[in-house]
Amino acid sequence: MNNECKKEKKPDIIDILRQFSETDDINTITNKGLKNMFTFYKKETTNITFRLKNHQEYFISGKVTDVIVGDSNKNLFLVEIELENKEKAIFGSWYIDIETIIPSSYNPIRYFNRIPISEEVKSEIFNRDNNECILKLDGCTNIAEEIDHIIPVSKGGLNNKENLQASCSNCNRKKYNNLLF
Ligand SMILES: [Zn+2]
Repeated sequence: MNNECKKEKKPDIIDILRQFSETDDINTITNKGLKNMFTFYKKETTNITFRLKNHQEYFISGKVTDVIVGDSNKNLFLVEIELENKEKAIFGSWYIDIETIIPSSYNPIRYFNRIPISEEVKSEIFNRDNNECILKLDGCTNIAEEIDHIIPVSKGGLNNKENLQASCSNCNRKKYNNLLF
C-alpha cells in the first residue's frame, strides 16, 4: 500500500448522483439520482458495496438485481441485492447510507486510510491464533508473521480484533493480490 492511495479523495456522492438526476434541487438529486444510479448498476450488473445507516458495522456487497419503486411515494424505493453468497436481500433506500456506496468500477482501496495496528494488538492476535496462519492458502508456510484483515481495509475493514487474524506472508500477499486483480 503506497502513500499515494491516501491522497485520493472520494468523489462527492452528490456530484455522482447529479449525473443520474435531471435537476439541481438537492432532495430530488438525492432521491431521483439514487434511484437512477441503482437502476444503472442493475443494468450494468456492477458489483457495489455500501453500508446501512443503522448498521454501520456491516458492509453489504453484491449485484443490484432489482429496484422496486413504491406506489405512494415514488421517491422511496427498495433495492434487491444478490449477495456474494448468492442469497438475495432487500433494502429500503431510506436505510442506505449514500456516502458509503462504492461501485466496484472504482478502486475502493483509495478511499480508505490504512491505520497501523499497534504492536500490542499484533501480539494479542498472534497469541489468540496460536501463532499459526489462519488463511492456509496454497503455499502457506503456517508461520504467523503478519496480521490479515478478514474484511480488507480496501473494503472498509477495521482494525478491531474480530476483523484481524494471523497469517503467513505468503498467504497475506496472495490474498492481497487476489483483491487487486
Ligand atoms: Zn499461510
